[in-house]
Amino acid sequence: MNPKEAYEKVFYLIEEHHRWFSSSLPLIASENITSCAVKEALISDFGHRYAEGWVGERVYAGTRYMDEVESIAMELAKHLYRVKFADVRPISGVVANLVIYTTFTSPGDVMMALPITKGGHISMGPLLGQKGNFIGGTAGAVRGLDVKYLAYRDEELNIDVDKTIERMEKYRPKLIMLGGSVILFPHPVKEISDAAKSLGAVVNYDAAHVAGLIAGGKFQDPLGEGADTMSMSTHKTLPGPQHGMVLTNDDEKFERIKKASFPGLLSNHHLNAVAALAVTLAEMLMFGREYASQVVKNAKSFAEALHDEGFNVPGEKKGFTRSHQVLLDVHEMGGGMKAEKLLEEANIIVNRNLLPWDVRRGRSFLDPGGIRMGVAEVTRLGMKEEDMKEVAKFVRMVLLDKEDPRTVAKKVVEFRKNFTRVRYVFETSDEAYKYIRLRMPS
Ligand SMILES: *Cc1c(COP(=O)(O)O)cnc(C)c1O
Repeated sequence: MNPKEAYEKVFYLIEEHHRWFSSSLPLIASENITSCAVKEALISDFGHRYAEGWVGERVYAGTRYMDEVESIAMELAKHLYRVKFADVRPISGVVANLVIYTTFTSPGDVMMALPITKGGHISMGPLLGQKGNFIGGTAGAVRGLDVKYLAYRDEELNIDVDKTIERMEKYRPKLIMLGGSVILFPHPVKEISDAAKSLGAVVNYDAAHVAGLIAGGKFQDPLGEGADTMSMSTHKTLPGPQHGMVLTNDDEKFERIKKASFPGLLSNHHLNAVAALAVTLAEMLMFGREYASQVVKNAKSFAEALHDEGFNVPGEKKGFTRSHQVLLDVHEMGGGMKAEKLLEEANIIVNRNLLPWDVRRGRSFLDPGGIRMGVAEVTRLGMKEEDMKEVAKFVRMVLLDKEDPRTVAKKVVEFRKNFTRVRYVFETSDEAYKYIRLRMPS
């Protein structure tokens, strides 16, 4: 392929991707879409620049305007999450977690988190195999932490408080990570934090998935409930750029967090994403409550509808879900891999996922027994409870009625024509500019 062909091909492929996704049902729980204002900030000149260090203590020149934007991002984050300190520099959720590990632990220390099989994230995972042989999760393989697991009650789809406290007393962790990638119900932050205090352990809540719901006051308030710090991605339920953030109310801890970020883990911190994050936080201060409330209602409606269609939806006795996520147990139907592929052919984009009881029935991450779906993005596209019932029908047609997925795809394309605009954002650029006065260089 010559350079000219490659160049054209890249743009052709981006266009094809856009066409496909704008006629699909995007139900990946870790994804979302941004407003045009956020996209505009992302392509700004900030994306070409450096501003190492803290505002006012930069190691680069030319940062005058970027400093102000970063200060605004911090102010908005503090306001939105009702906290004293925000570091908006970590460039992703994994880096935000690394900032936490670097701040509060040394290699060899014990950290406790959920295993991936119960909703933990790969960044909280242990070293697998031999020491020095970097295979495994970030905590174990990169930071050298001795990862022990929080106890989990499969029937409750949540942390087992009593058993976890027993394990904490046994393992004496330096750090406890709450939160996770599969999180249907609020975690017992207060109970675990109370126990951690008496053991001198730091509690971090990883809000990567639920940051937008927390911002909208619709899930739980981890810092209010006793967690010391909160790390997050800014692009899952929080509908911002791909980036990260760390929050706390503790000034002594924050001083150490700042140093772990820089000079510890960051050089460039993606200033265009910081600007885009500031815009997102402003949007969330305006529309976050309404958005988060609709996300939670949609998830519940979707789960109930799938149950009514005949699916095995975990969490029934607890009301299926209180977050943006819905799980399906498709073990009996050939597993998550097969379901994911069939749905993808029908323009329904989901991802396969381990269920807490999968290992017991001989499944692994290679072909897990579940699929995980999130409704944040379709909510942003304007879907309401009634629309979620339609989406549940499409899923039924593919997985239960065994209709040809390409036939279902045609119906999905028609359905998607009703949802073409991003909601919970300023309706016009004029309206946006009244609040967010960004101007592109001409
Ligand atoms: C997605 C996720 C992360 C990682 O976030 P990135 O922004 O992709 O690096 C960390 N923790 C949890 C619980 C997640 O779900």
